Amino acid sequence: MTTLEVRDLTKTFHRHRAVDGVSFTLTPGRTVALVGESGSGKSTIARMIARLVRPTSGEITLTGQDGNQVARRAYRDHVQMIFQDPFASLNPFHTVEHHLARPLLLHGRSRAEVPHLLERVSLTPDLARRRPHELSGGQRQRVAIARALAPGAKVIIADEPVSMLDVSIRLGVLKLLDRLQREEDLAVLYITHDLATARHFSDEVLVMHRGRIVERGPGDDVLLRPQDPYTRQLAAAAPDPEARFRQGGQS
Ligand code: ADP
Repeated sequence: MTTLEVRDLTKTFHRHRAVDGVSFTLTPGRTVALVGESGSGKSTIARMIARLVRPTSGEITLTGQDGNQVARRAYRDHVQMIFQDPFASLNPFHTVEHHLARPLLLHGRSRAEVPHLLERVSLTPDLARRRPHELSGGQRQRVAIARALAPGAKVIIADEPVSMLDVSIRLGVLKLLDRLQREEDLAVLYITHDLATARHFSDEVLVMHRGRIVERGPGDDVLLRPQDPYTRQLAAAAPDPEARFRQGGQS
């Protein structure tokens, strides 16, 4: 069971404290949503967890072990990022088959597993021959998710995974992440500025404001009965957050 714990994490850029004493735990089969406006520090947290940015202070542990003591490759196999723009993590010259076979082969597995990997993200096997520009935005993000799963990831950091997709296909990708988290026992950090999807697709919501977590708890508590003045403001400004789900949503 892989658990990722973030303890008192702080990041200062040129005397500006972008992340200030943030703590939370990601456990298998649970989604934690990190919500907040642009500039509140969400991506900096994701980048520190992905080891793309070094924390100024604080700790990140993977199943009790200091993240810095875990070999870079083993850490990356366990902890994978899904980015806002799936093109960012896919090579335009490589086929889907190549993108997925590479991590499988690196882990001593067979390229014959590619169709199964596609099936796990609800894509048909014939897409394996295509290149990223021959896929829809939603299909591209599903391939990026399959590629994150290929090395056996247990923790997924999804940084605004649907905000660049057409509204009509966003829910499908969020439902996929939700299904994987439940059926495959993944620990998911879902980063978003969308309060409605944060509430709907998470077990715990963390509200970020100016680098700090100002409120945390189950989505219904945080967003329907906010205690912190900033959360109240954020919830009040959200455009009828429940409407999409009351209508059954689109997938
Ligand atoms: P969010 O993801 O919530 O939009 P970010 O984590 O991207 O927020 O940014 C938080 C703050 O840190 C912002 O004020 C941003 O300008 C600053 N910041 C982020 N990355 C850097 C960097 N590499 N250098 C300087 N400041 C940065």
